[in-house]
Amino acid sequence: DLDVASVVERLVADGIDVVRVAYPDLIGTERARDVLVEQLPGVMEHGLAFCRAVYHTTPMGDVVPVPEGLGAGLPDIRVVPDLATLTPIPWEPGVAHCLGEAYEPEGEDHCPEGPREVLRRVTAALGATGRTAVAGPELEYFLCEPDPQSPTGWRRYGDAPGNVYVAGRKGDPEGHLLSTLRHLRDFGIGVTMGNHEFSGGQFEINLNHSEALDAADRAFRFKSAVKEIARHEGRLATFMAKPFNDEGGSGFHVHLSVCDEAGRNVFADETGEHGLSDTARHAIAGVLAHAPALAALFNPTINSYKRFGPDTLAPWLIDWGLDNRSAMVRVPPERGAASRIEVRLGDATANPYLGIAGLVAAVHLGVRDKLDCPAPLEGYGYDAERSPLLPADLPAALDALEADTDLTSVLGEEFVRAFLTYKRDEVERFQRYVTDWEFREYAYHL
Ligand code: GLU
Ligand code: MG
Ligand code: MG
Repeated sequence: DLDVASVVERLVADGIDVVRVAYPDLIGTERARDVLVEQLPGVMEHGLAFCRAVYHTTPMGDVVPVPEGLGAGLPDIRVVPDLATLTPIPWEPGVAHCLGEAYEPEGEDHCPEGPREVLRRVTAALGATGRTAVAGPELEYFLCEPDPQSPTGWRRYGDAPGNVYVAGRKGDPEGHLLSTLRHLRDFGIGVTMGNHEFSGGQFEINLNHSEALDAADRAFRFKSAVKEIARHEGRLATFMAKPFNDEGGSGFHVHLSVCDEAGRNVFADETGEHGLSDTARHAIAGVLAHAPALAALFNPTINSYKRFGPDTLAPWLIDWGLDNRSAMVRVPPERGAASRIEVRLGDATANPYLGIAGLVAAVHLGVRDKLDCPAPLEGYGYDAERSPLLPADLPAALDALEADTDLTSVLGEEFVRAFLTYKRDEVERFQRYVTDWEFREYAYHL
């Protein structure tokens, strides 16, 4: 344990007078409070009070208490800083960022629905079989500039049409990517590289791989950091799955491998079919079998389901393939210690903790239940009719999660109940909301 007095001393010596204590709420929003450094000892002792609820943006009824809905009232949770995660914020001099742990108001128990707790529970289930999950996240986002003419108030950054796999000013006239990449490196996110993505104003930045909880922590901090850096530029970085009708969506691809106690990659087997072990095949089968429920976690918004479709590079069917980007699960060509699966299901709105937790749970179940893996997709996956479809919308995915009792028992029943409560409220709010599409479609001719 770090001694708080010496931490404060070091912060003050480094010119830091504020600690931003942040934790992920159920939907992955960064909830944070800026704490003056001299308050830190008290905060370490008592924790910071936050409301145990998820807030959203529509003006009325804009808070959904979890886990039990309004019946629970609006109780507190206690967030205790994890001083091991203290990191100076490179673009905000004088401020350090710190992750917090969400606890019950009384006692020593974590909140069962806290996303870090959910992921810990899942990695512990895998750990009980002597295995560790290693994850490498990739995140895409659109950068937007203020535009008073646009109905949303924003338009895509830059003037170039899509420019995938390019870097430099032609797709990025003001050098947003370079400065973001350097800030993220200095912030300790473990980024490796970045490039312009398919659509104008869309970027991708890759994170190196590490143990699942650490990878999720970095992906969570990455998203907040990118949004903050964009705000410093007077811009909006959005991780929305499909923010524009005429452009592709933003994915959250996760590269996943599993190691044994000696640190050996258990997906590798030179003598196995396609150079993959039986464990790898069971793991893939687990992801396919639990995909409808996983969609609720990896594709958690109403908007998420507009990203799926043929010819999108996002998935369409529940399938897998060898180095095939038209499949939901791609097995990249590297083998040996780099043997892994790339799960392309997720979109960038996913709470990274929950997406990774669901994925690790599905892999764990596939291996535990020795599920059979179908033959890999051959050729271009989008014209195939042979594989099952992903859920068509969020309500279908939520029903699939509720019905998947095996996955739920690994993730935790209280968490799943809280998640379904919040997300079904979101669906209901949307179903009552009149959109601009409806006005255009119905107001004139009918
Ligand atoms: N943007 C695509 C998606 O939504 C992925 C493009 C790529 O392969 O990088 O998943
Ligand atoms: Mg990409
Ligand atoms: Mg990828």
